[in-house]
Amino acid sequence: MRAEIIAVGTELLLGQIVNTNAAFLSQELAGLGINVYHHVVVGDNPERLERVLQEAESRSELIILSGGLGPTKDDLTKQTVANHLKRQLVTDTTTLEKVIAFHEHSNRPMAENNKLQAVVLEGSIVLKNSTGLAAGMFLQNEKTIYVLLPGPPNELKPMFLHEVKPLLLANMDKPELLISRVLRFFGIGESRLVTILDDLIEKQTNPTLAPYAGVHEVTLRISANGATEEACIQLLNTMEAEIQKRVGSYFYGYGDETNLVESVVNLLKEHHLTITAAESLTGGEFQSSLASVSGVSEVFNGGVVTYSNESKSKLLNVSEKTIAEAGVVSEACGIEMAEGVRKLFNTDIALSFTGVAGPNSLEGQAVGTVWIGIAQKGKPSFAKCYHFARNRNSNRQQATLSGLDLVRRLIKQLPLDE
Ligand code: ATP
Repeated sequence: MRAEIIAVGTELLLGQIVNTNAAFLSQELAGLGINVYHHVVVGDNPERLERVLQEAESRSELIILSGGLGPTKDDLTKQTVANHLKRQLVTDTTTLEKVIAFHEHSNRPMAENNKLQAVVLEGSIVLKNSTGLAAGMFLQNEKTIYVLLPGPPNELKPMFLHEVKPLLLANMDKPELLISRVLRFFGIGESRLVTILDDLIEKQTNPTLAPYAGVHEVTLRISANGATEEACIQLLNTMEAEIQKRVGSYFYGYGDETNLVESVVNLLKEHHLTITAAESLTGGEFQSSLASVSGVSEVFNGGVVTYSNESKSKLLNVSEKTIAEAGVVSEACGIEMAEGVRKLFNTDIALSFTGVAGPNSLEGQAVGTVWIGIAQKGKPSFAKCYHFARNRNSNRQQATLSGLDLVRRLIKQLPLDE
């Protein structure tokens, strides 16, 4: 099956947004063994989109469109595809009910044009939008499959993974199954991971391995094909076992949508451990990331942000001697902060973050120097020093993620110094 991705939106042509949808879809289609031969970007202009559709139809069996499904005037994708295929546009009642209910629940007046979000191509399979309102569409028209997806990536991704992928698999000539597993790693760079797995990547056939460098982390997609689900799973298990043997201590979770904080919160819950933090350079980012996980209150009561020296002394009892002699960016201060906040919240684990976010150095310490302190119930406290060579906010983010990873390694009893 030859595929083509058409991203619709003048913002893309103006360079105001980057076409990440095409990158995501291409990766996913490659995983399914579907060849993508063309990426096209076209503005919100029906004549030009019509020409693009004609050309796409002459060379591709699968045409995926992203964007232009919204309620505003410049959202022309559905109308143009309907004209092109000489199909009617009809209202999908389930989607319409959802649009109406959304406005009622959020107490917002519903504009007439919001109803357009429930309009679909006649004869299409309506794709559920689990994170937004506009419905997607999957339509077989003679020899060509048309897929229409919303532009926002947080809507397009789940719709592709949960709605489109199963339909594509069902439509593929080969009855062979293709199953992927995504492994996520923190604390190891892509080049190091690839070097350690070099021989596996070199001789890959089935399963295939696709590493991807994300923001501050690396993912590895293993894809296996076989006649049955069991055969694929067996291949995936064997490959994963080899990978885990080599880089398992950096592995934190599975899947496209999981993240480090979620897996750490799950670990805390599984082990019935409570956590708190005292944050200086991260300014609450660590606690804010914990709070992004629903149900975190089971393990997290609260913590403090102690940005100034005074607040470190007053709230956490960091001694003036430590501040004067070792400085606030020090092992001693990291430990005292962690112990102070553990006392305040009486938790099993307490973290502290103190360091130099930048752009200026502090106490003669280089930008990116960060101490993360750990205090635990019934165990000696310690602090670990990191050197992040990035800009201010990236250093703060790295510190937050490294704190989370430290908790993961502590709970799993993995080495802390890799
Ligand atoms: P909406 O209902 O939000 O209007 P839509 O399906 O009409 O959705 P667009 O209006 O085309 O989609 O785009 C909405 C937003 O989605 C854009 O402002 C942009 O942030 C994002 N977006 C659109 N296309 C892409 C793309 N190809 N890659 C990445 N992001 C995109």
